[in-house]
Amino acid sequence: MRIILLGMPGAGKGTQAQIIEEELAIANVSTGAILREVSKSKSELGQKVQIYLNSGQLVPDEIIIEMLVERISKDDCNNGFILDGFPRNIEQAKSLDQAGVSIDLVIYLKILEEQIIDRMSGRRIHLPSGRSYHITFNPPKVDGKDDLTGEDLIHRSDDEPEVIKKRLEVYFNETEPMLDFYNNKDIKFYEIDASEPVKTVTEKIFKIIN
Ligand code: ADP
Ligand code: AMP
Repeated sequence: MRIILLGMPGAGKGTQAQIIEEELAIANVSTGAILREVSKSKSELGQKVQIYLNSGQLVPDEIIIEMLVERISKDDCNNGFILDGFPRNIEQAKSLDQAGVSIDLVIYLKILEEQIIDRMSGRRIHLPSGRSYHITFNPPKVDGKDDLTGEDLIHRSDDEPEVIKKRLEVYFNETEPMLDFYNNKDIKFYEIDASEPVKTVTEKIFKIIN
C-alpha cells in the first residue's frame, strides 16, 4: 500500500500518518521530519535547509526530490509507505512518476484556513520521532513529554504566526494547484473533512483503506 496524504499545513497529516503506520505496519515518510533532522547538522546543506524551514518556504525541488527517492528505496518501504508532506508542488508530483513510483491512494485532508492557527499554535512535537501532539486537542499523557520515550516535546519554530502566514501562502500558490493534478489522474483520490476530531478522521481514512 502506497498512500499520499495531502492537505494544508496543520490539517493533521502527521497525526494520521502515525496511526496508519502503526495499523498497517508500513513506513511513515515525512519530508518535514527528514528536513528538520538535516537542519540540525552544521553542514552546508543543514544550514541551507534551516533557512528554508525558518522562513516557511519550500526547500528547492532538486534537494528534496533526491532525498525522498533515496528514502523510499530503503528496505522498510518494501511493504509500502505513507507520504506526509510530499509532493508539495506539481514538479514533485511528476518526479514520482519519473522515478517509476506508483501510488495506490491519495487522501486529501480538507480543512478551513480558520482552524489552522489554533492547530499549529498548540502543536507540540517530539523531534526525534516526529510524533505530533496538541496541548488541547490531542494532549500527551504527561504535559510536555512524549508518550513513548518521556522525552521533551518542542514547539516548532515555524509554528509562529508570521511563518504560518508564509507557509499558508506557499500552500495556496504551490501545493493546492497540485490537487487537480491528482484529481485528473487515473488514481484513487479521496477527500475527507479533516476539521473533525482525530478519531473521526482516522475512522474515515480506514473506511477508505479497507
Ligand atoms: P500536519 O502534519 O498536516 O502539518 P499535524 O498532524 O502535525 O498536521 O497536526 C497539526 C496539529 O493539529 C497538531 O497539534 C495535532 O495534534 C492537531 N490535530 C491533528 N488532527 C487533529 C484533529 N482532527 N482535530 C484537532 N486537532 C488535530
Ligand atoms: P511540514 O513538517 O510538512 O509542515 O514541513 C515543514 C517545512 O519543511 C516546510 O515549511 C518546508 O520548508 C519543508 N518541506 C517539507 N516537505 C517539503 C517538500 N516536499 N518540498 C519542499 N519543502 C518541504
